[in-house]
Amino acid sequence: MLKNFAFNNMLDNLKEKIENSFLLRPNKNQLCDLKRLIFEIIRRENCSLDEVFSYLTDNSGSEKYNGRDKFFALKSSLLKRRFPVTAAKEKIDTKRIFLNQIPEPINSNYAVRADFKPSKIIVEKEVKNSYLVRNFSEKFPDVKIQEINRYNDYLDNNKFHISKLKEPIVFLIKEKWDFLKPCPCTKVHLSCGYWVLNLGFGCPFDCSYCFLQCYANFPGIILPANIEDFFTEFDALEKKIKKPIRIGTGEFCDSLALDEITEYSTKLIPYFQDKNVFFELKTKSNKISNLLKITPSQNIVISWSLNPPSIIEREEIATASLTERLNAAKKLQQKGYNIAFHFDPIFYSKSWKQIYRQTIDDLYSHLKPPFAWISLGTLRSHRRLKAINEARFPKSNIFYGELFIGEDKKLRYPSFLRREIYENMVQWIKGYDRQSPVYLCMENKDMWSILNKGSSMEIEKYLLKI
Ligand code: SF4
Repeated sequence: MLKNFAFNNMLDNLKEKIENSFLLRPNKNQLCDLKRLIFEIIRRENCSLDEVFSYLTDNSGSEKYNGRDKFFALKSSLLKRRFPVTAAKEKIDTKRIFLNQIPEPINSNYAVRADFKPSKIIVEKEVKNSYLVRNFSEKFPDVKIQEINRYNDYLDNNKFHISKLKEPIVFLIKEKWDFLKPCPCTKVHLSCGYWVLNLGFGCPFDCSYCFLQCYANFPGIILPANIEDFFTEFDALEKKIKKPIRIGTGEFCDSLALDEITEYSTKLIPYFQDKNVFFELKTKSNKISNLLKITPSQNIVISWSLNPPSIIEREEIATASLTERLNAAKKLQQKGYNIAFHFDPIFYSKSWKQIYRQTIDDLYSHLKPPFAWISLGTLRSHRRLKAINEARFPKSNIFYGELFIGEDKKLRYPSFLRREIYENMVQWIKGYDRQSPVYLCMENKDMWSILNKGSSMEIEKYLLKI
């Protein structure tokens, strides 16, 4: 496969080639659009530039037009080839196409390892005597511990660049403000009433679609050492809540990836066990040794994100395999935990039906329903993430799918495709299991009609079974 810089070289003389082949002198913006579309077609189809030019000669009808109209004839023809499934179904709205500049790959990217080991441990002075610092220093006796006043001081002498995102630096800090909040969901979509306990920022895994890449302005992983302050914060919230809530820690981190060192589960589970909540730990790991030592209860939910093995291998770097995740889930289910699953993000491809159907078959051949819940969410992403993904993961093809700018300004598959995915996934799941509640993540009212739900309150009741 050609890397982006090789494409850039190959497309260098594109302007000249277009002038010679189609008698069009594209302006700068027109050239950018054509270059981007040709680049994405070559990446999607693994075809040559000459093949794309022959296709344009045979199909664009550009010889009938002049100037701008000739450009539009070429662009429209490229759009049909770039988005074949959507073009066959509906007219492509060009305002919803996102054509960014082709970024150069980052060659100095830190590569993550399946066996996480910090390169540095940086500790805020206020928590230097905490159990978390002790755990890290015992587990990694050869890694130097450095004290600092506030973790942000690190940036004074170490400028952040996205290539350093996965540098394995661990910051052990005292969280002061950001303890607990309702999940922000996304504009114009139905919320499921989830709450987020902010147990750190950063992750030892490296998923090519991870939204943290858009927001990170820090390398490594930030972990709070003052868990008891989170409990004080929840104690105050608990007095105000009248009905059970769902709460979890997996928004800005993986809940269990480092649990064998942080031991967060051994503090969180006993605390939440007698609270009026469903407390969820969400993971792509198989780090369950602490959980096996704790007596479970039904309001503690351990959940796994699932994807077909081919996607895990290519897009979820350093995470546990599908079989490892399902085996870990089985052990915890046998121990008596309430288990849940998230098919999120689901990727559309030519073989999506076959590989997701197989993954659902694998799930039900390993585990017995019912589960606490199963969520479904198709790929959605901030537009900024596309260039980051291309620069950090030159082998990833996820942004060359049928993605358009959605109502919430995020890149998403079009409605008809999302509906097809959800309807099939729901049908396959219901073929095995009519009891586990299935819900959609960050979807609109129209999509929720697949599950006959029309409001956030209805969704919450459905998931809480109240
Ligand atoms: S497991 Fe979650 S938090 Fe970690 S890299 Fe993947 S998507 Fe991001």
